[in-house]
Amino acid sequence: MVESYSRNDAMNYNIPVGSSLTHLMEMDPAFRTVAYFSMEIGVMNDIPTYAGGLGILAGDVLKSAADLGVPIVGVTLLYKQGYFKQRIDEQGRQIEEPFQWEPGKNLTLLPNEVNVDIEGNSVYVRVWVYEIVGETGYVVPVYFLDTDYEKNAPEYRNLTWYLYGGDLRYRLCQEMILGIGGLRILRDLGYNNIKTFHLNEGHAGFLALELLREQGYIDFEKIKEQVVFTSHTPVAAGHDYFSFDLIERTMSPVFVDYLKQMMPNGGVSMVDFGLKYSKYINGVSKKHRDVSRKLYNTENIDYITNGVHSKSWTSSSMQRIFDQNIPGWRNDPSRLVMASKLGDNEIWKAHQANKMHLLSKVLEKTGIELDTEILTIGFARRAVAYKRADLIFKDINRLIDICAGKVQLIFSGKAHPSDEDGKKMIQRVIEISKEISDRIPVVFLDNYDMELAALLTSGVDVWLNTPIRPREASGTSGMKCSHNGVLNLSILDGWWVEGWIEDITGWAIGPEPKEVELVNYDESQDADALYKVLEQKVIPLYYQNKDKWISMMKNTISLNASYFNTHRVVREYCEKAYGIHPKYY
Ligand SMILES: *Cc1c(COP(=O)(O)O)cnc(C)c1O
Repeated sequence: MVESYSRNDAMNYNIPVGSSLTHLMEMDPAFRTVAYFSMEIGVMNDIPTYAGGLGILAGDVLKSAADLGVPIVGVTLLYKQGYFKQRIDEQGRQIEEPFQWEPGKNLTLLPNEVNVDIEGNSVYVRVWVYEIVGETGYVVPVYFLDTDYEKNAPEYRNLTWYLYGGDLRYRLCQEMILGIGGLRILRDLGYNNIKTFHLNEGHAGFLALELLREQGYIDFEKIKEQVVFTSHTPVAAGHDYFSFDLIERTMSPVFVDYLKQMMPNGGVSMVDFGLKYSKYINGVSKKHRDVSRKLYNTENIDYITNGVHSKSWTSSSMQRIFDQNIPGWRNDPSRLVMASKLGDNEIWKAHQANKMHLLSKVLEKTGIELDTEILTIGFARRAVAYKRADLIFKDINRLIDICAGKVQLIFSGKAHPSDEDGKKMIQRVIEISKEISDRIPVVFLDNYDMELAALLTSGVDVWLNTPIRPREASGTSGMKCSHNGVLNLSILDGWWVEGWIEDITGWAIGPEPKEVELVNYDESQDADALYKVLEQKVIPLYYQNKDKWISMMKNTISLNASYFNTHRVVREYCEKAYGIHPKYY
């Protein structure tokens, strides 16, 4: 069997697992067939190259791919200054500090180098690698592109410093490095057999130009066959748009020429580009698919609802219970369906341990001592206006009436440095926390990151989510909660439309969604709906019926965590978008 393998056999994974030949082939770039490009990838807290859900999802997808033996590689940029370190001043204002980190600590610099023509200059690009080792030892490399070294002039060295920083020119340069430089680096590393280029959002779309150049003649259909595009937001304002004026000043003439043929109607919207030149397009929840179909006026959009990497987001106390009762869950989280059989007492004790862990972090960071016996509600995610961190404070007197002595609140989240509305929202939460702290303790934890996210999504009792519909394409933090028996209380948007069963897995705020457009949604009722469900359901259940509460905790593990995980997500991408089979089950 081993002797008779052919490259095709290897592609179909008919080779025996565990032989050294298999291992050699697994490491051989010629056998990798999928390249996953993302502007941000968050694989661990000490590699601060992510801003929020998009980057965490990318990291989680690649981790599950490593667990499942999927022949994929990741490509992103190495942001020397990280995203930023958040501090909050006396007035509740966000202060951004550079996040200095040492890439050499967790990444390895490779000898490979390519260059990209930017503004008529050769900009050199080198690459660092981080190797994700999966459950069965399979390795998925993640490549971080870097221009910050001696060979480049200062105005090009800084191109890989800031994630989502700088102006349009800066962004265009970064996207050229990611798309064009990224593909060139892959070729230099020996990846000559990539069948699918997966664009995790549109930022890396320029790789299509390099594919055309490699090909030597213009055949858009041939390019299209190789590209897969995942959209992550229905908010058009978040999309990159470059004018041809800027493109002509920045890109080499041959690429400008390709682009003008590809996008003949003006400038280049990276989303439109992705939609037009991909064979498979998906949104990240069923709801998001419906909204995207309407927004982009095409039926050619599928959905693969997001997930989280189960092992990474399950607290160690819950892991211990799963290990003892649900063998194999780590590489097959669908087995978490069996969570309904877990012992009530065990689950509750593990949860209380997580809560204590979180509350000691709160004490350490703020000096405020919260109570482990009080219903604790968490809200943490990027501080951006549509997510409405402050919705719960819409009617403060009513909130106090319902919650005084019964509820404590924990907030966290960074606003983008140029997002004044997001910063004001943080400030408002902090001001209110000072006003009402004698009635309802409210704390804000600065510098939200993966580590804090793990503590919060396992240590609170209830996870609050109040976006303006239908702007939350998926949301993933609530799925982290599901893995830890933390109950979701959320507007029906994104993933929650699929995960929600009222009074079984958690609670809805407001009515079921009917709209598929960004307008026509009456948000004035949301705060009222939130107060009602807190008063009538959440608070009484927590204090008066712990058994039912614990059964809901088990339900969210068995019904939500078993499905909203990236193992299922990666299998779906393999099946629908990559046309390959994962190796390990
Ligand atoms: C999971 C995660 C997010 C995404 O949260 P959403 O609620 O989906 O927006 C953002 N930031 C960090 C640090 C996370 O771990």
